[in-house]
Amino acid sequence: MGADLLIVHLYPALLRTYGDRGNVLALQRRAEWRGFRVEVEAVSRGERLPQGAGVVLLGGGTDRVQEALAPDLRRRGPQLAEAAEAGTVVLGICGGYQLLGNLYVSAEGTATEGLGLIDAETRAGDERLVGRVQAAAVLWGARFDLVGFENHGGLTTLGSGAEPLAEVTSGGGNNGHDGTEGAVRETVVGTYLHGPVLPCNPQLADAILGRALSPVTGGGSLEHLDDDLELRVHEHARTLPR
Ligand code: GLN
Repeated sequence: MGADLLIVHLYPALLRTYGDRGNVLALQRRAEWRGFRVEVEAVSRGERLPQGAGVVLLGGGTDRVQEALAPDLRRRGPQLAEAAEAGTVVLGICGGYQLLGNLYVSAEGTATEGLGLIDAETRAGDERLVGRVQAAAVLWGARFDLVGFENHGGLTTLGSGAEPLAEVTSGGGNNGHDGTEGAVRETVVGTYLHGPVLPCNPQLADAILGRALSPVTGGGSLEHLDDDLELRVHEHARTLPR
């Protein structure tokens, strides 16, 4: 019997800033605790991207790493676009988020074409946005608070085809100016938040999981989990200074 959920972790050895792999573990465990069978497949440059993923995850990485893997990622563009169209949740964190957009221009002026799965452009600003972020998110009808840590030189501007994931209440977010954080287009989600973001934001994790598992659950709500520890971490993060 196959798994209920296939999680594809793209470029785990390259895109892994601040423990972003914790996002894979959070989704895996939260599904397994509810009795779902989960398979995780790591896909590196040149390796085959499997069909049928419920979630595809990309973590953050440096400009140099982003530029190095961009050609491989672009080759996967049509397959990823088709998967997203069919309901696969694609989650990009920071550098991974920037690569889901149309274009990334580094501080050196190097332009890297993204996947275009999210209508957004990122250009390096004069100063980096570094520190803790708090934001109010709306994702597929669910509202919840987000906490996390950002460290990026790229400033992202959303186009008309993307909705922000959240409104920043503290911190920089997409660009430090317009109060937006992250982006959503259908099942494609990007955020600047590390932490890793999912273990300390169980509502975001469950929104993603609920969507990814909908072929199995029929879209029904997921069984409640005891999130005492996760919510204590979440609340603690809210008390920390920027
Ligand atoms: N290239 C990036 C930036 O500094 C990504 C950083 C990250 O993923 N943490 O904007």
